[in-house]
Amino acid sequence: MDRRLFLQFLGCGCISIGVSSCTTVPITDRKQLKLIPEAKLNAQAAQIYEKIKEKEKLSDDISKLNEIKEIGKRMEYSIGEYFNQSNMTDPTASFDWEYILIDNKKVKNAWCMPGGKIAVYTGILEVTKNTNGLAAVMGHEIAHAVAKHSVERASRNVATNVVLQITDILTGGKLSTVNRTTGMNTVGLLSQIGITNPFNRKQESEADYLGLIFSSLSGYNIRETTKIWERMKKANKGKEPPEFMSTHPSSSNRIKQINEWMNKIIIEYPPIKIS
Ligand SMILES: [Zn+2]
Repeated sequence: MDRRLFLQFLGCGCISIGVSSCTTVPITDRKQLKLIPEAKLNAQAAQIYEKIKEKEKLSDDISKLNEIKEIGKRMEYSIGEYFNQSNMTDPTASFDWEYILIDNKKVKNAWCMPGGKIAVYTGILEVTKNTNGLAAVMGHEIAHAVAKHSVERASRNVATNVVLQITDILTGGKLSTVNRTTGMNTVGLLSQIGITNPFNRKQESEADYLGLIFSSLSGYNIRETTKIWERMKKANKGKEPPEFMSTHPSSSNRIKQINEWMNKIIIEYPPIKIS
């Protein structure tokens, strides 16, 4: 394959391997590569989520868990309603939402697996501090899932690994290649669904943007968002960076960018009434 075609393939791949392998992120309209079927990744994520529930110590703080579920339910509803009211396909239609609170004060992290399987670690509650703060972190994590960032990353991994086998993909060998690449190795699966691997900056920025929108649609005060990033920076001082920051690489202008988006989002994405 010539070099130009290769670069084009990694750039998005839409032209070189056909329209069906490309998709568009809702709201931001960014084009992204999609070689892996979403349903397959969601099913894998759900299996791993079950294993995590067995292995981790779940918190017995029921009121905190209920707060997480309450925020989640409002976001589920608002996101679905927003897309329905806008006559757009709801990207969360196939999600099977679930929420856990993991009892581990040392871990300052939260994640949302593809398909809406969410975990919050008690360690990050010191940083989120209040409901608006928790909603900001959850909105950001949910945004990664809504924008299918894990599907995109896994597709890119496949693209990189099998770039010499494009003929195979073109002739319908796509699924077999995906199977071989993801395998049944748990470590491989974990990295494929995006818990241990950092997202790239474009995806982080997109999750910041969409996260603000989802929090605003759900009726939370999104002005808390920049305060969390400030607190996260403080928690970072003199120690290992908190997990949230290592799996969510931050650019120096992140807070500035969020501030620039803030007022417009508050006006354009007001809270959706719960009927
Ligand atoms: Zn992120």
